[in-house]
Amino acid sequence: MSSISDRPAPPLPPRGPKPLLAGRRRLSAHISVYAFVILPMFALAGAVAAAWGWGLSVVDLVLAAAWYVVTCLGVTVGYHRYLTHGSFKAGRTMRIVLAVVGSMAVQGPVLHWVADHRRHHAFSDREGDPHSPWLFGTSPVAIVRGFWHAHMGWLFERDLTNQERFVPDLLADRDMRVVNRLFGLCTLVTLAGPALLGGLITWSWWGALTAFFWAGLVRMAFLHHVTWSINSICHMIGERPFTARDRSANVWPLAILSMGESWHNLHHADPTCARHGVRPGQIDISARVIWMFERFGWVYDVRWPDPARLARLSAPT
Ligand SMILES: [Zn+2]
Ligand SMILES: [Zn+2]
Repeated sequence: MSSISDRPAPPLPPRGPKPLLAGRRRLSAHISVYAFVILPMFALAGAVAAAWGWGLSVVDLVLAAAWYVVTCLGVTVGYHRYLTHGSFKAGRTMRIVLAVVGSMAVQGPVLHWVADHRRHHAFSDREGDPHSPWLFGTSPVAIVRGFWHAHMGWLFERDLTNQERFVPDLLADRDMRVVNRLFGLCTLVTLAGPALLGGLITWSWWGALTAFFWAGLVRMAFLHHVTWSINSICHMIGERPFTARDRSANVWPLAILSMGESWHNLHHADPTCARHGVRPGQIDISARVIWMFERFGWVYDVRWPDPARLARLSAPT
């Protein structure tokens, strides 16, 4: 696999407001990524090392990994590829399961998440995009501010997305309205579940507490940052082999943790495609899971990549 490219972002089409990034500005894009994402990772690794043996056990790690994988797939396969973009079709039970498991990632109720994300695609990197890093300009300070806004600042400053406009299909579905209302319960389950399992497996209150902390809180926060990194990093640095009309980029170091979502340039070029990592060697765990669901007969009409379409979308070299 190649490394993250230092090439500047391609210019946006004429109505795009931002010029090319170059030199010092590109450097500040990289610095914000390191400061906001890589440093906290080191802090987390330090916390794991410090707690090992007394406040963190193998049980906690296994529970954290399992809850991470399931809730991450709830967002990537359920909230994103299915409910937002309709990359495949599913029966009623599967539709409800995907919406519930997506809710357990605690990234917002299903109607909010899908509405925000459809709006992100509608206005991608332009005025109206709820979380573009490019809304403040391209000076070094503006880029750091943009990174913060795209990563998590938008959650605190945002206006609510008009659901009648962006998710009329979900609003018309009683099941989705019910799952949306049960977001609080999903949050409770995703935090209490690991605690209950940790307590039962170790048969101790301490085991329940450490599982709650690592497999509940830390796992949830970690997944939040991975998802937010798609909004921030994957619109700032990386490779752009496809002709999307925005600054979306492929960032291979995040491919596994994000379950394939960091092949974000292809996703913006071809949003309804069920596989984002379309090139050989581009690992896309979510696409593999959809493939398995299709094999089991749980989902159908999957929109797999079309070579002719991909050829048309490939950026000129
Ligand atoms: Zn995007
Ligand atoms: Zn999308």
